[in-house]
Amino acid sequence: MIKKSTAIILFLSFFFVFPLIIEAEGKTYHVGATDLHVRSEPSLNGQILGKLQAGDQVQVFDEAYGWYKTFYNGKEAWIASQFLMVEEQERAATNDSLNDVSITATGVRIRSGPGTNYPIIGFTTIGESFSVVDTEDQWIKVDLKNGKIGWIAGWLTNHQSTTYIPEEPSAQATSDTEQSVEQTATTTTVSNEQNLNGFNIVLDPGHGGMDPGAIGLGGIFEKDVIMEVLSEIASELRQAGATVLLTRSNDSYVDHATRLRISHAYQTHAFISLHFNASPIVSANGISTHYFGPDSKELAYEMQSSLSQHVTMRDRGVRSSNFYVLRNNQNKALLLEMGFITNPHDLLTIRTSDYQDNLAEGITKGLLAYFK
Ligand SMILES: [Zn+2]
Repeated sequence: MIKKSTAIILFLSFFFVFPLIIEAEGKTYHVGATDLHVRSEPSLNGQILGKLQAGDQVQVFDEAYGWYKTFYNGKEAWIASQFLMVEEQERAATNDSLNDVSITATGVRIRSGPGTNYPIIGFTTIGESFSVVDTEDQWIKVDLKNGKIGWIAGWLTNHQSTTYIPEEPSAQATSDTEQSVEQTATTTTVSNEQNLNGFNIVLDPGHGGMDPGAIGLGGIFEKDVIMEVLSEIASELRQAGATVLLTRSNDSYVDHATRLRISHAYQTHAFISLHFNASPIVSANGISTHYFGPDSKELAYEMQSSLSQHVTMRDRGVRSSNFYVLRNNQNKALLLEMGFITNPHDLLTIRTSDYQDNLAEGITKGLLAYFK
């Protein structure tokens, strides 16, 4: 559920500087494996709390028995340390030295210059590493090992000075022309394949941190239930070939402007905000897809149609809704209300692996139906 009290939350956020300081004391690592388990204890016997994907960032606070301690969905959690790579602290200060970067997303393009308006001269594979020759804004000039150089978007690598959230999105998509160059190129690449190769999907898990979202039966928080389904959706999309970007990957507060900045900084084909619904009427139930504006309408209908075929929940249909992350989004954008956490049947269903698998497949097929 989307709250209308954004202003209050923004105001409150000024008083939440303290948790950010604590977080900063952890050391930042990058995940170097796919489907990396997060466990409740520093042991393979620990309960699996969730999965991380290559390129995800993790704050590490402690170490025991070869495991690193972090926090996942607000709980203490442990990750096998051999799959975590430390960020190189010196990098920002030594741009001219030969450091390596490794690619943290699938299908990342190599371009002839530092921007999406430059021609594509090649592709990379996830985990591939390159020597850094230079950096400019959010772009990294790399040695292609064949006597040539190329440029790679820094936010799709483990490069420290160009993290996950590009600081100056306008540098990537300053005009319609640049955007259309990128999208034409992508469409050409994928037109003959039955998958989402070359498609950039931003998943936006709603709420987080001090914003719990709706409160469901038994006091369960919407923000936590969303994280239970997130990894399955991200992993299904990645298996279909999509590059998946997350606006949050842990229980942290991310404001709406930042969510949009991530959507806009990237050549995003679809932005999908994930939510669960709530109602004082306990019998209210079902799944719905929301959009704002004509650009996203057809995608919304394809998505809801696919969801209703895959998920055994009441089909509440498609709605035009004036939500901030939809209204102000320059990309095609949907908001999914994936069931009611105030309805006993929906809540039980939501927490089954069958539902989570079907939901992930429904979302993936919905995107395929629209983009193919
Ligand atoms: Zn919500």
